[in-house]
Amino acid sequence: MTRARTSRCRNRVVLQGAARRRLSCVVPLVLAAAMFAVPALGDDLPDPKVLFDQLNHAALNPSEIYVARNLYLTRDRVNIYLNRGFIGFLAPVAGEITGAVFVGDGEVLMMPPDPIERASLSRFTQSAILNERFNSAYLRFTDQTAAELMAAARHPEPDDTEQPGDFIERWIPILQRLNPEYSMRVLLDLTGERDQPCFLAYLNGVTQGTFQVEVDERVPEAVRAVAIRLAAGEKFSDVWASFPSAKSQQRLDDLMVGSFRAESFRIDARINPDHSLEGRTDVTLESRSGRDRIVALEFSRYLKVKEVRDGSGTPLTVFQNPGEDAAETVRRDTDWIAVVLPKPYPLGARFNLRLTYEGSVIKDAGNGVLLVGERTNWYPNRGVFTRADYELSFEYPEALTLVATGERVEETVSDGWKRSRWKSTQPQPVAGFNLGAYRSSERRVGDLQLEVYATREVEASIAKAAASMLTVEGIRDLNFPESGSRVTLFPQDPVALNPASMLENVADLASETISQYEQLFGPLAIHRLAVTQVPGHFGQGWPGLVYLPTMAFLPKPNRAQPGFDSRSEATLNEVMLAHEIAHQWWGNQIGWKTYHDQWLSEGFATYSAALRIAAGKDGDRKLRELLRQYKADLISKTPQGSTVESGGPIDLGNRLSNSPNPEGFNSIIYKKSCWVLHMLRELMASGPKKKEEPFFAMLRDFLAAYRGRGASTQDFIRHAEKYMTPSMDLEHNRRLEWFFDDWVYGTGVPEYKLKVDVKRSGPRRFVITGKVQQSGVPEDFEMPVPLVAKYAREKSERLGWVVVGARGGEFRFITAEKPERVAIDEDSILAIVD
Ligand SMILES: [Zn+2]
Repeated sequence: MTRARTSRCRNRVVLQGAARRRLSCVVPLVLAAAMFAVPALGDDLPDPKVLFDQLNHAALNPSEIYVARNLYLTRDRVNIYLNRGFIGFLAPVAGEITGAVFVGDGEVLMMPPDPIERASLSRFTQSAILNERFNSAYLRFTDQTAAELMAAARHPEPDDTEQPGDFIERWIPILQRLNPEYSMRVLLDLTGERDQPCFLAYLNGVTQGTFQVEVDERVPEAVRAVAIRLAAGEKFSDVWASFPSAKSQQRLDDLMVGSFRAESFRIDARINPDHSLEGRTDVTLESRSGRDRIVALEFSRYLKVKEVRDGSGTPLTVFQNPGEDAAETVRRDTDWIAVVLPKPYPLGARFNLRLTYEGSVIKDAGNGVLLVGERTNWYPNRGVFTRADYELSFEYPEALTLVATGERVEETVSDGWKRSRWKSTQPQPVAGFNLGAYRSSERRVGDLQLEVYATREVEASIAKAAASMLTVEGIRDLNFPESGSRVTLFPQDPVALNPASMLENVADLASETISQYEQLFGPLAIHRLAVTQVPGHFGQGWPGLVYLPTMAFLPKPNRAQPGFDSRSEATLNEVMLAHEIAHQWWGNQIGWKTYHDQWLSEGFATYSAALRIAAGKDGDRKLRELLRQYKADLISKTPQGSTVESGGPIDLGNRLSNSPNPEGFNSIIYKKSCWVLHMLRELMASGPKKKEEPFFAMLRDFLAAYRGRGASTQDFIRHAEKYMTPSMDLEHNRRLEWFFDDWVYGTGVPEYKLKVDVKRSGPRRFVITGKVQQSGVPEDFEMPVPLVAKYAREKSERLGWVVVGARGGEFRFITAEKPERVAIDEDSILAIVD
């Protein structure tokens, strides 16, 4: 059977950095580079701080107000029409006009090139094409926009019937608010590479409200339509559509890395008795642009940069959270700094920066339970999409135990201070640490040293809840803690609320988990893994370092989980622990290339946790229960009445949590991905019986092939195709696109109706015929559906797979015994079965 094939953009990449709800175009780490060197700017460039200030305060130039009649601008796939109205231009900065405003009747048109983006746009705007009228526009640009508009507009005449009136006054407060959002992006081009200009439009739409349309050649997905929306008190950056421009298609990999690639970090941090931190980071960067001078780094606002020097000791200009309005009430999503180099470095040159800083990033959650609040931003970093070598040195009060990523190469104690040094054994996407007045327990698991750390007391919020039978936020899901359940703590003897007392139990569970995963996925490249307690509700798995919430250390009687039966509740902690440990393989050993590929980390860790559950006592039933729970979550309804799953394909990654579907990321990336892998495994097991399931051979091989680097969905598909069985070759081309198009690039949970007829055709011979009907999914959705025959005494037998498409799927099987019932095997496929 052949299928209509949709063309897809296969290798999309996007913003660097880990934050999920970024604001608009000013994201720092998209600051990227072109691949050719151009003559460097002279040293006579004005002070960047002065330029920045001028950009922030650029006002409208009263002599540059124009009448606009039928003007239009085309930037890649974006067309902007200024049908009728007035345009004003910002006063030039460094001799350049970098902004304009418009009031009147305008229209924007954008057609995303691929069906995934058109579907995304449609989810937000009810139309696959953006076609919106607007009555005002704020434009910032570093391209030819000013010249283009000026050439086509004219100054108002005294006898014009319409006059600009108070045009300038009306824009004053808006410019004050919007200019700083865009200043750093404009400054980047004014001081550096001019080959990757931006065109950024903030529009006041007639039906859609305010939104932004951006064409920014420094961003891997240069063309975007984004709206900032509030839902349930939270701010979301709703990405309506995002795709590479025609121009950027050819250099996505370069754009991903940006203008500066971090090669190595040396971090020295002193943690004082009041838990304040004094730090110094030496970072070695490779220049990937011959012209750019601004190095942007993610960095916590709770640490103040004291100074930045280059390799020769020259102090450099630095901006911290530039463009920030002090009065801003909603916290920005990404904290960052921008360091201005005195001169651009030639393409390929290595150079060092030394940053010193101090502040408070370690919080005391009460009872001495500490948390490194800024887990990724406690040092200046370039985001998780490039890997670097790390050497970390810490100095801290002797009473504390500190555990960091990498291997501990040294630990000494003197004068009441401990000092320890940690080195990465392979390039890491990120580095971090955890600390506390810990007890610890150790295990040997093959070549791996497992260490588990926990405090003697629980943090204040849990202690209080436990004393009075309160409901607290329960253990929540992982890296993105927006979902999760609530937990009621029953009054307990406070002695029982001692995480350290559970050390042995957690160590046993962790070591069993590691053994199982080493068997399934192959050995880890690291030799030491620390599982450490953190206050709060979520865990995370970093290279050699797992964060596990206090709750996961508490004995079961302390917890009751509303909405779960007691058996599910018992598996909750195990799932959490297993998921975070699984990240040593998925996320750390193998990374993900872009936000589109994040399911390769979260989905795989979630499925690994399911495999852990399946390996335990009563495992088959528990796995079934877990998968059914995930299915129920996926087909549950959002407040708007659509299913959570329909919020978008797995391919959209962190864009899936947005104002209409706040739980999207959590449900789709974790739970649907878990199902996708389960189905792939079941399909791969449909071939001739082998000693080992081909699915696991495939995973081990995948980890080996991409060890220490990022992989994409496409990489995974090509890899999985090597292990496909003949029955998976639906299109007779040895490709698995049909599967991934349905499940990763598409949405929809199929609904199946089954019609069966059983006839005896001889002694011990029954002919089973029938048809499976499909609905609830797109026309081109096609999937093999597993059928089972159920006999008396709970005996059942897999009959086989029936390929079901829009026209249904017919089948014929022969059995020796007459089945009591023939059914679709709902444990092997994500489907709604009638
Ligand atoms: Zn995770």
